[in-house]
This record gives sequence, C-alpha cells and structure tokens, in this order.
Amino acid sequence: MNTEKLGGSYIKIENRKLVFSHIFNQPGISRPQITNMTKLSAASVGRITDELLNEGLIREYDSDSGNVGRRPTLLHVCGENIPALAVELDRNKQVCAAIDLTGKVHCRIERDFYVLNHSPQEICNLVREMADEVMSKPSLSGKKFSGICVVLPGLICMDSGKVLLSSQFRWNDVPLGKMLRDLFPKMPVALDNEMNARALAESLYGELRHEQNAVILGIGSGVGAGIIANGRVYRGDCNMAGEVGHIPMDPNGKMCECGCYGCLQTYVADWALVEDARRFRRNADINTILRAAEGGEQWAISIIERFVRYTKIAISYFTSLLNPGAVVLSGSLLEDYSVLNEWLLREYPLKMQGPFKTSFRLSMSGLGRDGGIIGAAVHLLYKVYDEYL
Ligand SMILES: [Zn+2]
Repeated sequence: MNTEKLGGSYIKIENRKLVFSHIFNQPGISRPQITNMTKLSAASVGRITDELLNEGLIREYDSDSGNVGRRPTLLHVCGENIPALAVELDRNKQVCAAIDLTGKVHCRIERDFYVLNHSPQEICNLVREMADEVMSKPSLSGKKFSGICVVLPGLICMDSGKVLLSSQFRWNDVPLGKMLRDLFPKMPVALDNEMNARALAESLYGELRHEQNAVILGIGSGVGAGIIANGRVYRGDCNMAGEVGHIPMDPNGKMCECGCYGCLQTYVADWALVEDARRFRRNADINTILRAAEGGEQWAISIIERFVRYTKIAISYFTSLLNPGAVVLSGSLLEDYSVLNEWLLREYPLKMQGPFKTSFRLSMSGLGRDGGIIGAAVHLLYKVYDEYL
C-alpha cells in the first residue's frame, strides 16, 4: 500500500475542508483572507477555490468597497445548490421539507398522523409520499437532492440504522434505516435522534453558534436534550446521550409510558400536564390550563408551577454535569405556548449553587419548530459532503 500517496490525499481533503469551512462560516471572505487565516499557501488556496467553483459549491463576486486599486473577489457558498430532504417524525405531527446548506427551509409540508395508530411501514410510506410531494414542487424541479434524513425521538443506532427504542412511538428494534432505503433506493438515507439534530442545527445556524459547550432541552410530547461538547454533538457511547426524559425524579411518582415510575417527563411533557388538568376539567388541553391559571384557579397554577420547578431541576442537572455556556429551550410545548417559557425565564437566574448561577445563558431556540428538520438536513449534508464540511 502506498501510504505516502494516502497521506497526500488525506492532507488534500483536510485542506479542502479547511478552505470550504472558512467560506461557509464567513460568507464574503476573500482568497487573501483565507490564506492568512489558514496559513496555506496562496497557490493552494487558489487551486482549491477553483475546484470548488468548478463543482458549483461556491461562487465569487466582486467586492463593491470603494478602495483604490484592484478590488478583491469575494467568495460565498452556493448553499441553494445543495438541497437535502429532511423529515421530522413526532407522535402527532410529521414534517417534511427541502433544506439547503444555508439552512433555508423550502416547501415545508405537514401531516397530522397519530403514530401510535400506524405501523412503522405505514409511517415509512407516509415519509415517501411527503418526500415525493416536496420534490415535485415547481421551485425544486431539476434540483439534485443529496439524500433524505429522518429524525425522531428515541434511541437510534447509527451503525445498524435501527430504532432501538422509542417509548413515544412504542417502537422496539425497528429497522427503520433499511425500510427507508428500500423506499429510497437511489439516494443516501440517514437517521438521527431529533434532539441531536436540533443541537446540530443550533450550533450551525442558531443560538449555539460559536458555543463550544451547550445544551438544548426539548419539551413536548416527550423530553430530551442535545449536547454540544467541544464544538461537536456529544452522542455518548451508543448515540444515547441526552435522553433525560426518563431520568427518575421520584420513585413514588406517576407511571411513565416507559413502564417506570416518576420519570422527568411525567412532570413536564404536554400529556402529563393535560392528564392532571382533566381531573378538574373534562377534555382540558394546554390552553384550558393557561386560561384557568390566568383566571387565578389554583389547580392550573399548581400544574404550571410544577412544570417550571421540574424543568428548572433538569436545567440544573445539566449545568452541574456539563458546565455549558448556554442552555437553549425548545420543543412544541414551549414554542406553541410562549406563556410557559415566560414563566421559566422569569424565574431565571435559577436557584443553584454560587458560580453556577451566572455560568450560562438561558434562552429560547431561535430556529423554533424548524430546528429538527434543519438539523436533519445538516446531519445528512455532513455525511454526504464529509469531504467538504
Ligand atoms: Zn419513563
């Protein structure tokens, strides 16, 4: 084996990644600036940028600065030329869209399937149907898709493409990757946990840009977290990091859908709040609780206070375990009912030990409900364009 040649090829790929990442992260950068920042030779930067231009991955335009002399040519990633199909599966809602490398969402469509009433194969067929609808939109005609990535809540083995467990979907050992590959034989298929995808999206386009260590906490029909450690998504040994929804908070608590008592999500997930509310109001939903709390009804105030208290405990676990620079809140419960995150943020700073109080900032996700699909696309694009990103 010619190791020297392999080594040369490795360096070439790393240099391409380095140049591409500078253009991606600093749109409008010039070749001399890249040369300065990367310490590569001007000739190497020139050769690599020419390759990227020829492949349609970047474009150049003249600077309009009024300086005397030759104006530098500025470089920009052609993100719109690089779309991916992204799908987020939730228990009550499914979303599909085309997302380009600039993070822009195109042709977003939604369905309201209740996953528990359908088999995994039926959900895969739904994904195919939604993907076909997105790809057939006139604005996307002629685009070459990089592939499809599906994200969902649960423990997902990246190697086998199996959903090992999704208590929200009541799935065990579902070979979702294979089932999707059968339906999409001509394109790369990827899977990920939805909170890992959200963490990726926030670190590239959202609130966690420039953060090296951070946490995104999602609260909706379940509870989960995505973790950024040293600038990358921390997945743990088997892609199971951040599964906080089933941390036991009280062994004498309410029965969880996982079969154990007193998990975190039995205090903060939307169904847990609604279950308690229905002791007081038949057919109550989250809006019923918020209206009753506003009217001063004690039962509703108690439900919200408990939600705030347990969410704060979850945040304090993360700050003690990981010492993040930022904690971002997301998920349908907080995105759809802003009053709840107002309660949470009003209570900030949290009651925690000395320096921890000011060690991180707490904010809402800037990407909102699109965080999952944007992250799905980024996950796929990282996989397919590993040579560049
Ligand atoms: Zn549980």
